[in-house]
Amino acid sequence: MKKIAVVGTGLSALSLAHHLPSLDITFFEKSWRPGGRISTRKHGEYAFDHGAHYLKIDHGMIGLNEFLEKIDAIKILKGPFCRNISQNSPIEEKEIIVGKEGNESIPLKFHKHLHYPTIFSTKITSIENTNQEYYLKAGEEKFGPFDYVFCAMPFEQSKNLLSKFVDYSDIPNIEFDAIWTIMLAFNKRLGAPFQFGYHLTPEISFLMNQNFKHEYFNEECWVINMRADWTKQYYNIENYVLEDYVVSQIKKSFQSDADAIFKKSHRWKYSYTKKSLNDYNSKNFIKSIDNRLYAFGDWCEGPSIQDAWLSGKKLAKYFSKMRLN
Ligand SMILES: Cc1cc2nc3c(=O)[nH]c(=O)nc-3n(C[C@H](O)[C@H](O)[C@H](O)COP(=O)(O)OP(=O)(O)OC[C@H]3O[C@@H](n4cnc5c(N)ncnc54)[C@H](O)[C@@H]3O)c2cc1C
Repeated sequence: MKKIAVVGTGLSALSLAHHLPSLDITFFEKSWRPGGRISTRKHGEYAFDHGAHYLKIDHGMIGLNEFLEKIDAIKILKGPFCRNISQNSPIEEKEIIVGKEGNESIPLKFHKHLHYPTIFSTKITSIENTNQEYYLKAGEEKFGPFDYVFCAMPFEQSKNLLSKFVDYSDIPNIEFDAIWTIMLAFNKRLGAPFQFGYHLTPEISFLMNQNFKHEYFNEECWVINMRADWTKQYYNIENYVLEDYVVSQIKKSFQSDADAIFKKSHRWKYSYTKKSLNDYNSKNFIKSIDNRLYAFGDWCEGPSIQDAWLSGKKLAKYFSKMRLN
């Protein structure tokens, strides 16, 4: 059986493995857990979905909800939502899909369902080709040989691995917005009339109440995203300065005297794809001339979870067809 390496365990990697026929697949993941940008950060009793917030209910991907329901990974929530808080947009009831026990349930249950061996805490640093076979290197460690290697990570990271084998001169540079994310727990309710919404201030683009999703901690926990242009300007701000600034903005906006008793921030270098590969040149992935190395991910289709799913699905379809011919 042909040996396949998949680098990354985000949703696009999991989708690829799910849509391929049963093969000899090994995942490689630099983190200690699967999921990439779908991540739940736990701190004591608190849990924050500090990467992707939710999957749109009307994402349009045939079979995705049914599959995630079958593996018991999701639940549907309905809650008050505000499109534009600073402009006092009316509060609407909005339905969303989230992980059953935090968004991490989605990749955790998906990965478990696949049953493929996974080498965690291993950052692949280069790919080598010897006698028509490929090897993955993580520092001094070497894995392989593999017949095929699929890189399921943000564009720039896969380019670093593949540029020896792929001519990037005709491939557009796919850019991502960086986003600062702040996780806060307040000792009192803020009294917000919504559970999630956009544009609280000119700096804060989105915020979401975590009690609404997780329902098991006493303090009020929020995840806050700064705007992409603000993040670019303050990319190197000290975490504690950022956290104090955001707390003061939140208290002012809600006219609250609540104290933040927990603060943590994370800078996502790659959060949202600005313009996808498909939008640039109608392609769905990048491949080497010998058809053995591939790069794909949400950035091939768009900025969201459903685009990661679609990217893996499209590449699996192409690969299955190519191998049959
Ligand atoms: C703050 C934030 C908020 C978001 N909000 C939403 C939202 O509300 N709704 C929505 O639909 N989408 C949202 N998204 C986008 C969504 O998270 C992504 O579209 C999706 O998770 C991307 O999946 P992926 O598999 O393509 O990439 P990733 O999830 O980035 O997976 C890449 C994987 O590769 C691994 N990796 C990278 N380099 C290496 C290496 N050298 N060796 C080994 N492993 C490596 C990484 O650790 C990671 O696990 C958000 C993203 C962020 C950051």
